[in-house]
Amino acid sequence: MKNLWEQFLIRVFVDNLTLCKYWRCHQLSERSFFVRGRQFHLCARCTGIITGYFLSPLAYFTLGEEVTFYFIICAMIIALDGFTQLWKLRESANILRFVTGLSFGLTFPSFCFVILIKIFHLIKECYGWQ
Ligand SMILES: [Zn+2]
Repeated sequence: MKNLWEQFLIRVFVDNLTLCKYWRCHQLSERSFFVRGRQFHLCARCTGIITGYFLSPLAYFTLGEEVTFYFIICAMIIALDGFTQLWKLRESANILRFVTGLSFGLTFPSFCFVILIKIFHLIKECYGWQ
């Protein structure tokens, strides 16, 4: 089973060049995961964000419109982790980078979806559409 999981990770995050072609990332080795000695093309935080994007429909279908509240919390946490590291106040860990990225990635697309639906309803009310 571990072998299958490693094969999956290598196919998605190591051999897949589409990710690094369209997603800009610093790719620092000390901030990236490795599997079988091979570095992911994305750092731990970006790996979490991408993973969260793919799983984000789960967040929307379980949280509904409450996802906007969770997005604000997750955005504050990822900003806190990222900026305190950027300002050299502390050093984050790869697992923390991944988890903050994952929580952001899980909630951000759903947040955008909820906002777009609200804008659509506002426009619909303004023009009296049925
Ligand atoms: Zn990155």
